[in-house]
Amino acid sequence: MEKRNIGVEAINTQLPSNLEQTYASDLKELVKAWSRARVSKGLEDVKSFQENIAEAHHKYSTFQLVSLAHVFETIDTCCDRGISQQVSVSKTISDIDLLMNQLIRSNKVSPDPFLVCSASNKNSRSLGSATLHKTKRIAIIDDERSVGMAMVATLKQLGLDLEYFDSIAAFENTEHETPPKLVLLDVVMPNVSTEEVFEFAARLIEQDIKVISCSSNFSFEARLQAVRAGVNGYAVKPINPYDLLEKITRALQEGSDQTYQIVLLDDQEAMGEFYRAVFSRVNVDFHFFSTAESLLEALEHLQPDLFLLDKVMPSVNGLEVASMIRQESKFDFSPIVFLTADEQLDTKLNVLSHGADDLIAKTTPAPLMLSQIMTRLERAAFIKSFVSKDPLTGVLNHGQIVEAASHQMQMFQRNNSQCTLALIDVDRFKQVNDTHGHAAGDMVLNGIGQMLKAMVRETDYVGRYGGEEFVILFVDCDVQQGYKKLEAIRQQCSQMNFVLDKPEVSVTFSGGLVALEDHESVPLAVSEADRLLYLAKSGGRNQTLFEVPSSAK
Ligand code: GH3
Ligand code: MG
Ligand code: MG
Repeated sequence: MEKRNIGVEAINTQLPSNLEQTYASDLKELVKAWSRARVSKGLEDVKSFQENIAEAHHKYSTFQLVSLAHVFETIDTCCDRGISQQVSVSKTISDIDLLMNQLIRSNKVSPDPFLVCSASNKNSRSLGSATLHKTKRIAIIDDERSVGMAMVATLKQLGLDLEYFDSIAAFENTEHETPPKLVLLDVVMPNVSTEEVFEFAARLIEQDIKVISCSSNFSFEARLQAVRAGVNGYAVKPINPYDLLEKITRALQEGSDQTYQIVLLDDQEAMGEFYRAVFSRVNVDFHFFSTAESLLEALEHLQPDLFLLDKVMPSVNGLEVASMIRQESKFDFSPIVFLTADEQLDTKLNVLSHGADDLIAKTTPAPLMLSQIMTRLERAAFIKSFVSKDPLTGVLNHGQIVEAASHQMQMFQRNNSQCTLALIDVDRFKQVNDTHGHAAGDMVLNGIGQMLKAMVRETDYVGRYGGEEFVILFVDCDVQQGYKKLEAIRQQCSQMNFVLDKPEVSVTFSGGLVALEDHESVPLAVSEADRLLYLAKSGGRNQTLFEVPSSAK
C-alpha cells in the first residue's frame, strides 16, 4: 500500500533540482536574442526575442516564481509597445536593458533570488510586515549597569522605548504609568535566587507582560526553569542586539490579535452548530459545510488556516477530500485535522498517509479540543511566516517583497494609497567580506535587516532583494517623505557597529527611491530605482536619490 505525505511532497516537487542550470542556459539564450535585437533594432529580431520571452514565461510559470513571471510579463509589454510604436525605440531599449540587467545580475548571486519559490500566499494577511510596534514599552532589569545601559543605548538607536532598572526591587518600587509590554530579565542577580527571579517572571506573565530572560547560563536546567515559568524567549549573554531584537519582535507578535479562518466539513448540521459555539470564544472566522461539493466550491474564495474534516460521511470519504485539498499548493501550510469516532492506530496511519496532520476523537472535551486546534494553528502560522522570510536576515524574501509591492500597486488603483519603493545596496560590501570574513559579512547583513525593520513603520515592508540589496516599501507615503525617512536610516546605519567583537566594522549604503504608482509594473519601478541607485553609487556612494514624482513634473 502506498503511504506518503502528499502535503510535503507537493512542496518539494515544485522546483526541480537542475532548475538553476536550465535557467542559466535559458537566460544566456535570452541575452543573445536581446543583443541581436538591440543592435539591429529590426522588427523581426524584436519579435523573435519576444517569442523567446513568451516561451520562457510559459516554461517557468509552472513553478511559483512570482517575481520572475512579473519580469517576463513586463518585458513582453515593453516589446509590444516598441513594436506598435507607442513608445520610442530608445525608450524601449533602455527599459528592456534594465529589466534584462536585473535578471543577469541576480543570476550571479547564489541562489538566484528570482528562483526562490515564494510560499503560496493568496492570503495577503500572511504577508503582514514583520516589524515591531515601537510604542510598546520595554523594561530591562539587569544588575550590571554597564550591560543594561549598553543594551538600552543600542536598542534605543533602533527606535524602541526602553527603561533600565538595576534590580527587581527597583522595578517593583516604580510607579509605572503604563506597564511595559515586555521585560528583559537578567536571571543571575545578587540578593535574589534564580527561583525567585523566575517566580517574578511568572507574576509578570500572569499580568500579560512578555518576558525574555537573559543569562550567560545556557544549561539544560536553566532553560527548563525558564520554560516552566512560561518565559517567551531566552537570550544568551553576551547579547547580540540584533538577535535580541528578533526575539523581542517574535515575543511581541506571539498571541497577537490575528484572526484565523477555520472550515469544518461534516454531514451533520448539529456538529456545525456545536463547533460554531466552541470557536465563538476565540478569534476564529468559522465556516461550516455539510457537503464536500459546497466546500470545494467555496475554497476558490476562502483561504482557511486549518481544515476540520469528518472522516466518515455518507456520499464521500473524508480522506478523499483531504487528498483533493492537498493537491492545491495554496493550502500547503494549512493543517488538516480529522474528527473521528475511532482512534485506532490503523485509522491514524491511514489518515496521515492522505495528507492529514492530525486526528482528534469526537469525544474529546471541548476545551481540550480547542486548545489542541489553536496550538496547531499558531504553529502553522509561525512556519508559514518563517518560510516567507529570508533565512539570513529575517526580512521578507525576494518573492514576498515583490508580491507585497504588486499588492501595494493594486491598493493605489483601489483607493489611491501611495507607496514609495526604495532599493538599497550596501557600499563596497565585497571589502567587508574580504577584510573581516564571510561570517562577519553575514552578521552585517543580518544587522541591516533588523535595523531596517526596526526603523520603519509597522505597516511598511522590508525585504531582501538579493545579495546585499534590500527593498523597503514605505506605505501611504509619497516619495519625498520616503526620501526623508531613508536618509534618516542611512545616517543611522553609517553610525552603527554591526559586528560585536570587531569594533571597526561599519558600513554605508546607497539607494534609489521611486513612487510605485508612477510605474506600470513592479519590475519597471525596480529598474528605475536601480538606475538611481547606480547614479548614487557613481556619485560617490553613501547617498540616496529619488525620482521626481509625476504629480510634481
Ligand atoms: P558597490 O559599492 O559597488 O555595491 O560594491 P560592492 O562590493 O558592494 O558590490 P559587489 O556587487 O561587487 O559585491 C557584492 C558582494 O556581496 C559580493 C558578494 O560576495 C557579497 N554577498 C552577497 N550575498 C552575500 C551573503 O549572503 N553573505 C555575505 N557575507 N556576502 C554576500
Ligand atoms: Mg549589489
Ligand atoms: Mg554593494
